[in-house]
Amino acid sequence: MADATCVRRLFVILCGFEILPKSISVRGADSRFILSEPVFVYLLDTEDGWVLLDAGLNPDNGRDAARVQERFGRFGLRPPVIRDVHLLEPQLRAIGVAAADIKHVVLSHLHYDHAGCLAQFQDAFVWIQRREFEHAFSPEPGFAYFRDEYDIPGLPWRFCEGDWELMPGVRFIDTRGHTEGHQSALIELPEAGRMLLPFDAGDLQENFDREVLPGESCDDAAALAALLRVKALAAQPRTTVLLFHDPAALQAMRLSPDCYC
Ligand SMILES: [Zn+2]
Repeated sequence: MADATCVRRLFVILCGFEILPKSISVRGADSRFILSEPVFVYLLDTEDGWVLLDAGLNPDNGRDAARVQERFGRFGLRPPVIRDVHLLEPQLRAIGVAAADIKHVVLSHLHYDHAGCLAQFQDAFVWIQRREFEHAFSPEPGFAYFRDEYDIPGLPWRFCEGDWELMPGVRFIDTRGHTEGHQSALIELPEAGRMLLPFDAGDLQENFDREVLPGESCDDAAALAALLRVKALAAQPRTTVLLFHDPAALQAMRLSPDCYC
């Protein structure tokens, strides 16, 4: 018997790829390995309206030459690969959803590969852990915070702290460590059971199997605790994990407009 849930369907929307040294995702990995890592947005069809988890990649980060140079090129980094088939708005439209239909956007954290299309969802309540918000709006939050993508005047921010529930079946857990206020999601579906969405608490299956941290963290002890917390939840019955950055796991995923229900 499924736990009480307001969620009817979960869509996995593929928003593009990041071209990264494996050491960004697995600390100490062989520096010769370059991965093409997916980036997603999750869309929930709930009894209380449409809910978006994360806000994807800003296409300009892969397509606007001046911006690519400013944000990636001058650091010797590759920009993300974002083709037309990865654009968020047409993929939402294919499900029958307009940006204005989104009632809530819940952000795992404010790195550019999680908050890139926030400007499209200014009618939604935007939920974030309070300490992530405070860090992101501090003077020097770090390379992966693209302030112009989330410092949007009038955006209706809503704050959460620690573990919390948006509505029955839509829960978030504190997985601080990758960043100051990172959170992961637990979504209850009527048929499929529990979907565990780690976001950046662990990028690849290898992080969880070997209990090795991703390359970046603001607090290694907290990041390891978060990784182990997600691993323990993943071992619970009727639980499916959808990894956010694993190119191998992507191959078996049910992508939109197909869905999990
Ligand atoms: Zn991140």
